[in-house]
Amino acid sequence: MLLDGASATGTSAFASALAERHGHPLVRSSRIADHRNLHDCYRNLLTRPGPLILDGSFVSDFVPDPLLTGSSRLIWSQALDLAGTVARGHGVLIHVVTTAPACPDPHPDQCIPCTRAAITDAYRRAFDTLSAHTAVLTADMAHGPVQPLPRRSG
Ligand SMILES: [Zn+2]
Repeated sequence: MLLDGASATGTSAFASALAERHGHPLVRSSRIADHRNLHDCYRNLLTRPGPLILDGSFVSDFVPDPLLTGSSRLIWSQALDLAGTVARGHGVLIHVVTTAPACPDPHPDQCIPCTRAAITDAYRRAFDTLSAHTAVLTADMAHGPVQPLPRRSG
């Protein structure tokens, strides 16, 4: 399971809760953030046998950066390849979302809510595209506390 979404949506807490509940290993993608070959690094992680919960994913390596810095650390073809790797491993991408704060009135020059809304929209478009290549679920954190998934028997 790969959990990802715009910053401050509760992804890390959700990932921790899932890992604890299911007893699966948890990897925080920020720990591989400075790896020189990010694509191979994710591939190795995703082809590892056994269950894995990834807090943050390759989606965050190509969605927000072009908006914030004008460049990104992965290209689309690499992201699509990684989505295929997730599908072959019977994995799932979980898009973690929450209600965005409203734009204040008057709208300031450096408007944080509007920047967040643009990033959230970019994530939504990216997950839409990736859903053609692997299973994608949406977890909406705005609807109360996270309900743990039922334990799989067997
Ligand atoms: Zn605004």
